[in-house]
Amino acid sequence: MKLTLIVGARPNFIKIAPIIHAINHANSKSQNIQYRLVHTGQHYDSTMSDTFFKELNIPEPDINLGCGGGTQAEQTAAIMIAFEKELMTNPSDLVLVVGDVTSTMACSIVAKKLNTKVAHVEAGIRSYDLTMPEEINRMVTDCLADYFFTTTRWANNNLKNNGVDESRIFFVGNVMIDTLLTNRSRFKKSDLWDKFALKDKSYLLITLHRPANVDEGNKLKIHIEEIVTNVHGLPVIFPIHPRTEKIFNELGINYPNLKITTPLSYLEFNYLVERAKAVITDSGGITEETTVMGVPCFTLRDNTERPETIEMGTNELMGTDPSAIKPALEKLFAGKWKKGTIPELWDGRSAERIVKNLTDIFKR
Ligand code: UDP
Repeated sequence: MKLTLIVGARPNFIKIAPIIHAINHANSKSQNIQYRLVHTGQHYDSTMSDTFFKELNIPEPDINLGCGGGTQAEQTAAIMIAFEKELMTNPSDLVLVVGDVTSTMACSIVAKKLNTKVAHVEAGIRSYDLTMPEEINRMVTDCLADYFFTTTRWANNNLKNNGVDESRIFFVGNVMIDTLLTNRSRFKKSDLWDKFALKDKSYLLITLHRPANVDEGNKLKIHIEEIVTNVHGLPVIFPIHPRTEKIFNELGINYPNLKITTPLSYLEFNYLVERAKAVITDSGGITEETTVMGVPCFTLRDNTERPETIEMGTNELMGTDPSAIKPALEKLFAGKWKKGTIPELWDGRSAERIVKNLTDIFKR
């Protein structure tokens, strides 16, 4: 079996790592799965790309298509043009895409037009919010894919409701949690710990990068101010996504307890998540990681494609109105945040299930 594995952006690297390790493991047990790792170049900054390859032991990509930057359409088009050449030169039995970034959608379209099968990992989740580019990426990818690997039974139902036959849906759990559980004992204390005199459960961590939260400077400013002024002076660590950095720097926000840093490596970031009093974010993947680590999580969005992190986990939707932040922080400081449980099959073995299913499919 010959696979093409696609990665493009930060969350993709975290999701592909356990799949590659599971393939290597299967090969060591007499399977013969060949793969070619294609990096579209969507994220190219070393803090958003290279560091993940090193820390998570992901092999060097076989090719980097160098398609960083541009508008949504420019980037989609650039990836499609470059990936079409790549797949024509190096045909495979199946293109495997993960998550919901532009690369996920663009490579799925190219693969199907070249009559190549597509497998989507993290299929079927939906925010039903078409203002999010990721929702469009998910919908298009799930219209085209042949095989669907899901993180929850809810995702299975969404796919079935869209007419996908049950035989093509595989509920395997969450590969992002595979990476988390494999690496939890390797989480690394960064220099920030001493630099900012951090103590267990005595600081908060923020990440924000969705257009709805960061494209409008004034809104971003009010959100940050509402957080830093309602945490009783505790340090608030903010590793800034490159998308957020430009606008943030123009705002002139300056509070003694607001600690700005570059995006952190996976092991350093999750060391901070595990010990934080709470995480405030608009990332999807982080709501899954906080759920598994039992860390209170506030999501600054009006909706989520991961409802299990709210129904079962430690996550709560705050909406995008900053007035919701203060009452939520009061609840946190009063010790009244919910505890949460871990969703079914988020057990560290999802990639192994994916590889097993793929080998069974190709045996047929
Ligand atoms: N992450 C990281 N360093 C950071 C911020 C996030 O390693 O400074 C990791 C985080 O643990 C999670 C992933 O990046 O695994 C989430 O990526 P992102 O928020 O970009 O994507 P989303 O989950 O929103 O698709």
